Amino acid sequence: MHVLRRIGAGTTWLVLLVAIATPLAAQEVGEAARIVLHAGAPFDGPIVLTHPGVGTPPERADGAQRAAEAALQALRAGRSALDAAVAGTVVMEDDPRYNAGTGANIRLDGRTIQMDAALMTGKGRFAAVAVIERVRNPIRVVHKVLDTPHLLLAGEGATRFAHRMGFADVIPTCAEAEEKYRRRVARVREALAQGADEFDWPAHWNFPNPLPETLRDLAEGGDTVGTVVRAADGTFAATLSTGGTSITLHGRVGDVPIFGAGLYAGAHGAVACTGHGEEIIRHAMARQVYERIATGSAAARAVREAAESFPSESSLGVIALDRHGWGVVANRQMGYGLAGPAPVEGQE
Ligand code: ASP
Repeated sequence: MHVLRRIGAGTTWLVLLVAIATPLAAQEVGEAARIVLHAGAPFDGPIVLTHPGVGTPPERADGAQRAAEAALQALRAGRSALDAAVAGTVVMEDDPRYNAGTGANIRLDGRTIQMDAALMTGKGRFAAVAVIERVRNPIRVVHKVLDTPHLLLAGEGATRFAHRMGFADVIPTCAEAEEKYRRRVARVREALAQGADEFDWPAHWNFPNPLPETLRDLAEGGDTVGTVVRAADGTFAATLSTGGTSITLHGRVGDVPIFGAGLYAGAHGAVACTGHGEEIIRHAMARQVYERIATGSAAARAVREAAESFPSESSLGVIALDRHGWGVVANRQMGYGLAGPAPVEGQE
């Protein structure tokens, strides 16, 4: 049963409330440049919600759905909310269509791949890596960071730590990421031809590799994969992993590994974001959504209100769980995965 509602008199925002939803039914609507909300009926059992990054069309959310099911399977096998959240994000890091792990963006120089990843548990444990290179599954490395006295490892230190912990020294790329890079270069060339120039990338170029000829400017987004989990015992966890945005200086860190920005979890819920990282950091977005939940808002309402307060010119997607419900919001198209609540008979 789909209910279409306008939120706030005079606004143009279209909000889709799915009273009792299967993921596929909810994914049928994805209106670009409008805030779209998906939510479900109260559900108290174990539940997993995933996103493959804002901007990812709903028809490519099958990998996110597989990730949600893998995480739920981990919960059913008796593993913790954190282990399940890591398992879900690993599935999406291994999916070459998504910008994380194997599919991570190749940066403007055509060679560099720098990834960020993070996790947080409902007990407040947090760990992250930033601008890590040469590893297939950054979220697994983050899991190992939990065993150190540190919260965040960055750059060469993070990469060396990963290899020291036994993770293979591989450049995680694939044909899909290379094709994405070629398309991006073509778009950059087109932007140059049209004279678009918001930032002088060559003047600030800090990659170890030279600026490829003809590349100067383009503002383009990224994608991140994320998983939030509520286990049967009511504990929460959240994980995120990203190849970051593609048009950046070397060493740029997005929202994912910044505490309170990309993800947050506590005793009341779990939140994971995707979108324009700099803006998400400025809004301390995940923490903001969590605070709304902790002070009594349902997850669906919390993500909607947070999205309404976000500038519409910046992309944003948020998934969140509370003790009884879930919510997914995005201001661009975004599929998602959901596992736990039983599908309702007779629904598409
Ligand atoms: N938030 C990510 C970043 O800024 C990218 C994205 O989710 O689109 O690195």
